Order: sequence, then structure tokens, then C-alpha cells
Amino acid sequence: MERRVRVRFAPSPTGPLHMGGVRTALYNYLFARRAGGDFILRIEDTDSNRFVEGAERYILDSLRWCGITIDEGVDEGGPHAPYRQSERKEIYLKYAMQLVESGNAYYAFDTPEELNALRAQMEAEGKTFAYDHTVREKLATSLSLSPEEVAERIARGDVWVIRFKMPVGEVVEMDDLIRGHISVNTSTLDDKVLYKSADSLPTYHLANIVDDHLMEISHVIRGEEWLPSLPLHYLLYRAFGWSDTQPEFAHLPLLLKPTGQGKLSKRDGDKMGFPVFPLFWTSPTGETARGYREDGYFPEAFVNMLALLGWNPGTEQEIFSMEELIAAFSLDRVGKSGARFNPDKTKWFNAQYMHTRTGEQLAEAYQKVMADHGVECSLEKSAQIAEFIKTRATFPADFWDLSSFLFIAPEEYDEKSVKKYWKEGSHALISTLREKLAAIDDFSNKNTEEICHSWIVENNIHMGHIMNAFRVAIVGQSKGFGMYEMCEVIGKEETLRRLDKALATLPQI
Ligand code: GLU
Repeated sequence: MERRVRVRFAPSPTGPLHMGGVRTALYNYLFARRAGGDFILRIEDTDSNRFVEGAERYILDSLRWCGITIDEGVDEGGPHAPYRQSERKEIYLKYAMQLVESGNAYYAFDTPEELNALRAQMEAEGKTFAYDHTVREKLATSLSLSPEEVAERIARGDVWVIRFKMPVGEVVEMDDLIRGHISVNTSTLDDKVLYKSADSLPTYHLANIVDDHLMEISHVIRGEEWLPSLPLHYLLYRAFGWSDTQPEFAHLPLLLKPTGQGKLSKRDGDKMGFPVFPLFWTSPTGETARGYREDGYFPEAFVNMLALLGWNPGTEQEIFSMEELIAAFSLDRVGKSGARFNPDKTKWFNAQYMHTRTGEQLAEAYQKVMADHGVECSLEKSAQIAEFIKTRATFPADFWDLSSFLFIAPEEYDEKSVKKYWKEGSHALISTLREKLAAIDDFSNKNTEEICHSWIVENNIHMGHIMNAFRVAIVGQSKGFGMYEMCEVIGKEETLRRLDKALATLPQI
């Protein structure tokens, strides 16, 4: 029987979720939806030293903003609740003990101070310290101490950890859905800590494997930084006797800096002026990081861009809705090598989404931008203007520059524009145009354009000459959008008022 597809996104709440993490969540989500399976959110918060207040909320808010919906998780609940590892504390010790009993793990009593001293001593000898098969029998572990001593140390409350007993000289054969077959000799690997008595918590490795098993995860799709842990994870499944049902693995390529050299970091964003986090973040100590949402990106554009950062559809198509991504996504089109982040392309995606939105869809964003500049505008008017200017905008913030002059009549006329466009004959032309417009009642752009255009053509008037002078008179400089559209927005009265003022102020030539 085909196994039900169940994937999980398992972030640790150690800070804001990097866009690489959002991509991991997205690929898991697309994979699950495509297969009609389940997308699970599990919070891996067993490392209390790295816990950051507010990070979990941030992760959940980010996924919601992206339109990534969760089937089972900390807010949703589900058959395997709880989904926060700190609330599953009691589960893990039993599994760690099971490994000790089967000879796959052992107690180690070394204190951090002892380990640090050992590390320093080996470094002084020019060697690097690894807690592995070469030292485990020489240190204070249940492999070297008598069972009585081990029992006594535990009974008297000594601090202990349980470490995985890495086999010696065995080759682990692994398969990754993106990287193919991988084999690693276990002699190169150390004995990872699985459980710590100090805080009665498992480490990532143990909790991750136990939970993936209990939650019946079918596929683990995660960042490449976890690839080195894969042999240990294979061996843990085997040690528990779960190899038959262990998930399949897919390790996603890194997101690279725009230069293509090295991993994309917050510092790159700060230096080059782009966000690397989905939402604005304020840390408990007050540090902040910019977010795509607050920078004016549409979530659909952000998701579209991220989806193509490491995956390709095999066609020329670049614009994908979430539904289209679900229909097209497959892991075999995820690349092996790092995906270079391109900030300009990211803006391009936003512009595409801006251009295909309707004026109504943009009205609220428009209204807000204007309000932020102290200009009130009705939703209806906002929709009308947004429709006219959207193809010139990339971000909502651009709306101000593209249309503020509709609300603020020119006080002065830009000298350069006047020199260039208010030429011999301009005054007479604009006076006549004023009279033409004064006679029109229906000020819709289609109507004014039709009437003025036929008059211009019939009278052999130079189109560039009149339109440029018209623009200078209405806007005060050579910017803006369609003349008749602008007149429709400001209305007949204001159009005539601006023309009168220009005729009175600009040279009578
Ligand atoms: N908690 C790990 C992380 O923060 C999850 C890794 C995994 O998916 O196995 O990335």
C-alpha cells in the first residue's frame, strides 16, 4: 500500500525565520498539497539556551502571511498533539533509555569543564578533540565505569548525558531524493549527545527522530545544513528498529548571496538593501530586521520568487499562483547546487503582481500610502487612481510619487520642464485647449480624449507640443501618467483652475 504523504516543517524558535526557512516550509507545503497529504508544523524548542521569545509567533505569522496552511500544529492541534517538543518532554527519556539498554547509546558523566580542558589540551598538541570511539572508553562513561559506579553516580545526582555509540568502521548507505545515493564511513563521525539530565531534555537528534517516527512522517524535506546529520539519523532509525518505516529524505540546496559566493545572510541584506526575513522583526532586546511584508511585497510575489529559488518548472513560465505551484511542484526539479538570490528579480516579481492587480484590489494600499503622507482619499478614488498608475509602480510606496500632484496643485513650475516644453505657441494652444475642455461635461478620460484628439488632428497641431505643454500646466513638471486620465481624477473644475493658473503664470509665448 502507498504510504500517506505526511511532511513536517520543524523550525526551532531561535529568532526570526530566514527566507531560506520559509522556502523549506513552502517546498514541504507544495509537496504535501500536490500529494493530497498532510503538512505538519512542529516546534523544536528543546535547546533552551537558544530559545528566543516571540520567535514562534513570528514563524506562525510568517507562514500565514505566505498563505501556507497547516494541517496539524501548535495552533491547529491534531492526532499527535502536542506539537511543541518542550510539551512532549516525558516522551523522550524512555527512548533514550531504550538505546542504552540495546547497547546503542551510553551514559557520559563528563562535565563541560572537563570537556573544555580536554579540548584545550588536545588543541595544544595540535589535534582536534572529538567525542568518538577513540576516547569514549577512556572517559567517564558507562562503557568504562562499572555498572555499580554508573548507578551510584546517577543516584547521587551527577550530571549525565546519553550519547549515541557510533559504530566503528561501518559504511552507512543512504538515499536522498535530491542528492542521490550517499555513503559515509562511521569512523569519521562522533558520538552525539541524545539526552541531557541537566534539563531533562532530549537534543535535536533524538527528539527529531522520535517525533518523525511517532508522527508518521513520510518525507523529511529540510535544509542542506542537516545533511551531515543524515548518517546518524539513519543509524538511529536502525537502532530503534524503525528502518522499515523511516521517512525518505530530501536536502534542499542553500540560498546563496547575490554574488553567488556563500550563504545568504542578514548582513548581505543590510549591506545591499533588501530584506532576508518575511516580516519585520523586533528581538526581545530591541534589535530589528526589515521584512518583505513591510517593504511592500505582495505575499504572492514573495512566494512565487521563493518557489523558483532552487526549483524550476522545466518550462519558461515564471508567474505561478499557489495553486499552479502545487500542480507543478516536484522534488526532482529541485537543483543540487546552491540557488543564487537575485534582489532585482525579486522586485520584478512584485511589479508583475502589482500590474495584474485591479484598482479595487489596490485601493486600500493606495489609501494607506496617501494617508501616511497626510492626504485623505476615498476608497473609490483610490481604486480609480491605482488603476491608472499601477503599471508604473513596483511597490505601494511608489504610489505617492506617481500621484501626489493630483492632490497638491503645482505651486511652482519646474524650470527645466518649462524651458523644454513651454515653447513658442504654447500659450495660445493651451488657451484654446482650455476652452475645448470647458465645453465638455462628461469628463471621463475616454470622452475628453476623443474630443481633444480629433480637434488636435483636424487642426494639424503637433501632438508632442500640445501634450507636453498641457502636462507642465497641470502637473508643474514633466511627470505623471495619461493627461486625460489625470484630468478625469482631478475633475473639470480643478483642471480648468490649473490651466488658468498656468496661463496666468507661464510665459505668454
Ligand atoms: N529544528 C531543525 C531546524 O531548526 C529542524 C531540522 C529538520 O527539519 O530536521 O532547522
